[in-house]
Amino acid sequence: MSVFSHPEYDHHEKLIFHRDAASGLQAIVAIHNTNLGFALGGCRMWHYASEHDAVADVLRLSRSMTYKAAIAGLNLGGGKSVIIGDSRRDKTPDRMRAMGRMINSLQGEYVSAEDVGINERDIALMAGETPFVTGYKAVNRGGNGGDPSPLTAYGVFRGIEEAVRFRLNLDSLAGVRVAIQGLGKVGYELARLLSGAGAVVLASDIFSENLSPAIKELGVIPVAAGEIHRQAADVFSPCAMGAVLNAESIPEISAPIVAGSANNQLARSADGRRLADADILYVPDYVINVGGLIDVYYQYVGTDRRDVRQHIDRVAGDTLPKIFHLAQERRVPTSEVADQLARERFMISSTGDAEVTWPLPAL
Ligand code: NAD
Repeated sequence: MSVFSHPEYDHHEKLIFHRDAASGLQAIVAIHNTNLGFALGGCRMWHYASEHDAVADVLRLSRSMTYKAAIAGLNLGGGKSVIIGDSRRDKTPDRMRAMGRMINSLQGEYVSAEDVGINERDIALMAGETPFVTGYKAVNRGGNGGDPSPLTAYGVFRGIEEAVRFRLNLDSLAGVRVAIQGLGKVGYELARLLSGAGAVVLASDIFSENLSPAIKELGVIPVAAGEIHRQAADVFSPCAMGAVLNAESIPEISAPIVAGSANNQLARSADGRRLADADILYVPDYVINVGGLIDVYYQYVGTDRRDVRQHIDRVAGDTLPKIFHLAQERRVPTSEVADQLARERFMISSTGDAEVTWPLPAL
């Protein structure tokens, strides 16, 4: 398998493969860029169809963490890890501990947290082997901390509010129809916030047991998994896996706004242009889903978590409208505007100008 000539390889600093024979763990860590600081990014457990798919995923995910940290105004680099396996079948405490030891061997160059298939209990097991994890209730930090998903959902909710204000000229979400793909840790909490704001929530999940409580408790309208992006809605909100915005799906989206938590929603960067040409306001994924990263960063460095919501509000209330306006003025896709702004911050800092604080003051 080629790495340096891999289509998703983007000047990544490190790609580390690890197998723990005793537990059967197979994991990959990718560190994309550490110009701004150590790499922070979650650990995903997924039943990849091939090792090639796992490598492509970890390269893409780690790259977007660099952009996410930069646009959030955090002095952090981008990294991510993947564990190859089905989290419902193959996850064992021994594998989680082995993952903790693997992370520990990197001595803080990479710090991990939750992602798809990895929950707070798993992170707590890893924490028994390494201090380089965050996003769990740490006894040594006064029991503070925990799964960042609720704050990711809060950021997505705030991003949807801003997108609806910009694109639909509405100051309230009452009656706004939002179609959520994936009712996991983020999707469910997002559905709860949207229902509370009076939005009409439609949702799909590949597992019916994830859908049932939302139907019962929140009055969510269930939709078949393959149909959710086609729903007549104001907002399509991808909150499951990546690459859902592609040449086939985009022409089928009827919502004027796409705004969700999933990482790497665009199958290819050209799909950003495809969305703009279809007159769909795409809220760049790594900007709208920044809440979780901000939360785990504050947890890790021990800053008062009351500031987290304020920080998320600044990204949603200042950075997102700036991206929307620049995209409109310059007639470029929102995804390209976001990339350019993020790159300005993490690339300039590589030239030695560590004082760059755009778009938000560095912490
Ligand atoms: P999760 O594993 O808890 O939830 C994902 C849900 O999507 C599951 O319920 C799963 O059954 C469902 N799903 C998978 N494929 C689907 C499909 N084709 N159609 C409908 N449903 C499908 O994961 P999560 O933590 O909620 O994360 C969701 C997305 O948000 C991921 O892309 C993740 O990388 C991203 N994200 C999460 C966080 C966080 O704080 N958890 C932060 C930033 C980004």
